[in-house]
Amino acid sequence: MLQGKTSLVTGSTSGIGKAIATRLAEAGANLVINGFGDATEIEAFRASLEKDFGIKAIYLGTDLTDVSAIDDMFSEISAKLGAVDILVNNAGIQHVSPVEDFPVEKWDLIIALNLSSSFHTTRHVLPHMKSQKWGRIINIASAHALVASPYKSAYVAAKHGIAGFTKTVALEAAKDGVRCNAVCPGYVHTPLVDGQIADTAKARGISEEDVKNNVILSAQPTKEFVTVEQVAEFTHFLCTPAADQINGTLMSMDGGWVAQ
Ligand code: NAD
Repeated sequence: MLQGKTSLVTGSTSGIGKAIATRLAEAGANLVINGFGDATEIEAFRASLEKDFGIKAIYLGTDLTDVSAIDDMFSEISAKLGAVDILVNNAGIQHVSPVEDFPVEKWDLIIALNLSSSFHTTRHVLPHMKSQKWGRIINIASAHALVASPYKSAYVAAKHGIAGFTKTVALEAAKDGVRCNAVCPGYVHTPLVDGQIADTAKARGISEEDVKNNVILSAQPTKEFVTVEQVAEFTHFLCTPAADQINGTLMSMDGGWVAQ
């Protein structure tokens, strides 16, 4: 279905991005893997995608908070895989602290990665997408693009910013075959969350089931985590013809969180 297309999934060495990269490769897209991590593990992942799905995959460990490094990344992609047809802006980080204590450098870093890097990647891919009259930009936002939680000011501000940016790009490129949407997951089951459950249960002296239902998933009515595979499948769907008229939306995958 996506054979011959070039996709870039930022932050695809881990978690949600890794699952999305795998799903797009399975659908036949060539792939740029980006993010940080253990070099041997990343190379094993890259090689397995090529072997399992017969696609071409390259790894670029670009730090997306560095604007000139983003420029260089696109030159390298263009030379090695051609222009990007599918852009998934997924890389993101979190920091939890009251506003008055929020470290200024953490604020700047979160805005740079979770918001501004999507502007920089998007401005690079739009000319080619518009000229060929086809392109898909999928921003992995969050339920926090739609509602807030205390102590996550930078993250919530960046994700609300991504919501506005998604709608703007969708309107600007609508007549050129480009679709821009945001996926807004609630809590997603990643190894990181597994660790949090065990640690919180220990710290509070309550069962892991209690932590899951009453702490982490207190806002998520289904009391079930979203899985990385579900986010990946939905992201893939947004690249298919069935999704051609989905544009400028903020698609919730949160078990009903923001319906409350
Ligand atoms: P993760 O920590 O597993 O993965 C984050 C990825 O971003 C990694 O590949 C990491 O190396 C990369 N990264 C970090 N800093 C970077 C930088 N400066 N430059 C380039 N890459 C960088 O996280 P995840 O849970 O898979 O989250 C992925 C996205 O999904 C984030 O945008 C996050 O906000 C969003 N999200 C996550 C959840 C959740 O519950 N896990 C819920 C909603 C939204």
